[in-house]
Amino acid sequence: MTEEAQPEYVTYRVESNVAWVMLNRPQYSNAQNYRLLAQLDDAFRRAVEDDDVKVIVLGGEGKHFTAGHDIGTPEKDSHMERERVHLWPNHLTRGGAERQYVLEQDAYLGLCRRWQDIPKPTIAMVQGACIAGGLMLAWVCDLIIASDDAFFQDPTVRMAQPGVEYFAHAFELPPRVAKELLYLGRRMPAQRAYQFGMVNEIFPRETLREEVAKIAAEIAERNSFGLTLTKQAVNFVEDLRGKRQAMDGVFHMHHLAHAHNQLMTGNLVGGLDAKAMAAANKKQASEG
Ligand code: ZN
Repeated sequence: MTEEAQPEYVTYRVESNVAWVMLNRPQYSNAQNYRLLAQLDDAFRRAVEDDDVKVIVLGGEGKHFTAGHDIGTPEKDSHMERERVHLWPNHLTRGGAERQYVLEQDAYLGLCRRWQDIPKPTIAMVQGACIAGGLMLAWVCDLIIASDDAFFQDPTVRMAQPGVEYFAHAFELPPRVAKELLYLGRRMPAQRAYQFGMVNEIFPRETLREEVAKIAAEIAERNSFGLTLTKQAVNFVEDLRGKRQAMDGVFHMHHLAHAHNQLMTGNLVGGLDAKAMAAANKKQASEG
């Protein structure tokens, strides 16, 4: 954490053995800047260390779960030094392709893997938009419970990138559907994601929190260590299926794309800013 006072990008409260970790930038659709990710990591640590917490819910305040990484709000902070969680250097001291590589190794791939391995059950409570970097936060959770108006989208191919940094697409979805999600970058409604097992349950938005609380309460009754081992067992199987290695491989393709974009357009994401992405999305949504 830096010394200066920061906005509360993430809120934390414990109720009946459940930690409610909420992204708290609703005015920017909970866009994730690096300080938000640091606060999120702090919240998860707090939940892990609190013996009263049996289950962790990750949600977002406001209309949307999260619109992804911060690519254009006034508090975008990739120019600021961040506290690293793993043993990677300060990206600001690096040039060339190394700068973004060390940043994303720690802040995206590193944090997501760390959160996926939290030894307590985690539930993503998703309403509205879950876009790009938003998928990363939902996918690292054990269960995804969505509102009936939730949708999932990875439009990064528009930015000439092969998906977001945490490449779980082809594990979360059948390969052909993963390609469709990426090629077209369309919004996948919760109902369709449910058909592939990417979403566990769907509820009306008005009752989402209440229903998630009921499911969390039921899990909280189970033996904690039994839950930890169960989680590790399933994660272990996913890694045996190649998830970890595939993700490492694709992470390097992701950075080949960033470097290529930088050479071709002078910009990491093919010259597309937040405004251009939002306009493209809007056009696609109105046509679809
Ligand atoms: Zn990237």
